[in-house]
Amino acid sequence: MSAVGHHASIVGTPTRMRWADEEDTRAFAERLARSPALAGAFIALHGDLGAGKTTLVRHLLRALGAQGRIKSPTYAVVEPYVLPQFPAWHFDFYRFDDPREWEDAGFRDIFAGPGLKIAEWPDKAAAVLPTPDLDVHVVLDDDDAHRLVTVTPNTERGLELLA
Ligand code: ADP
Ligand code: MG
Repeated sequence: MSAVGHHASIVGTPTRMRWADEEDTRAFAERLARSPALAGAFIALHGDLGAGKTTLVRHLLRALGAQGRIKSPTYAVVEPYVLPQFPAWHFDFYRFDDPREWEDAGFRDIFAGPGLKIAEWPDKAAAVLPTPDLDVHVVLDDDDAHRLVTVTPNTERGLELLA
């Protein structure tokens, strides 16, 4: 089965979490990082500015052995990583408004190939993105101190990621 294209969706049961602080973000990232299903996974991160999406990606990439600075790809749209086990790409589609960039910048090839893909603001590229294995929604609660997180698996791989 192709890695790109919309699959018949497997609707997994959403998992809900409450992150009191960044240590909880880190714990979830480290749990994901231990999954053998992560190589080749596509994880979509939803939530307002400041929700904590990039923070989750940083902890995940660190847990996978990323060295050096982990920049938010808001301007570049994508930052590539060479990790010990597999390559990874961190996308931020906030400024993505020209679908031609999907072809021109080689994003189609990245999503068709191996490695981990993580995307912030996936709704801005919904027309071209494949179905994410996991959708992660992060919402800052009223007191702005903790995060309410919903993780939804959409594929077999997504179910494996949470197993
Ligand atoms: P986003 O990428 O969703 O815009 P960031 O990851 O840049 O958000 O986080 C915004 C701010 O929130 C940062 O200052 C970060 O340190 C803080 N933050 C992120 N996750 C948490 C958390 N779980 N608990 C407390 N603060 C957090
Ligand atoms: Mg961000």
